[in-house]
Amino acid sequence: MSKVINFAERLADRKAKKESRKIEGWLIWLHCPQCNTIEYTEMRMPGGRIHKCGTLVEEEEIPIDIRAEFTISQRNVDKLDKLKEKQKSSKVMKFVGGGMKSLIKQLRTREEEYQKRLQNMTSEHLSNYPEQWDPKAEGVEITVSEPLGLEITAARQGHQLFTDKK
Ligand SMILES: [Zn+2]
Repeated sequence: MSKVINFAERLADRKAKKESRKIEGWLIWLHCPQCNTIEYTEMRMPGGRIHKCGTLVEEEEIPIDIRAEFTISQRNVDKLDKLKEKQKSSKVMKFVGGGMKSLIKQLRTREEEYQKRLQNMTSEHLSNYPEQWDPKAEGVEITVSEPLGLEITAARQGHQLFTDKK
């Protein structure tokens, strides 16, 4: 009997370890100096790449913990869903709500897109860190984006790598 318990414990222990483990990846920011377009991709291309205009693209790779990015993004989605609910139930919010509603929708789509890219970076199924996981304690740099208070990680602000140069 005790053997069975030990096995179950070991399994639970392994599961807990797996759930708190970092998954390393890169977010790659691309800048075309000709068109001045900036975008991000999850695809590493060591040989470099050419923009549709024929210019060699400038690239900046930012190392990330994919799970940290995923968790923070999911928390943003949860926040947006709560805001949406609150808006439904509030007469005041309804009154000013048209623009807010489309903003929430737009931001939610952006988070979903980001999560999709993060999932593309790994063969593992991405899951959130536990609720008590604190990005600040883990050294993940975050900017709070107003007015809705979404948390934007430094990796997602890679466009600044190119715009700050000017
Ligand atoms: Zn171009």
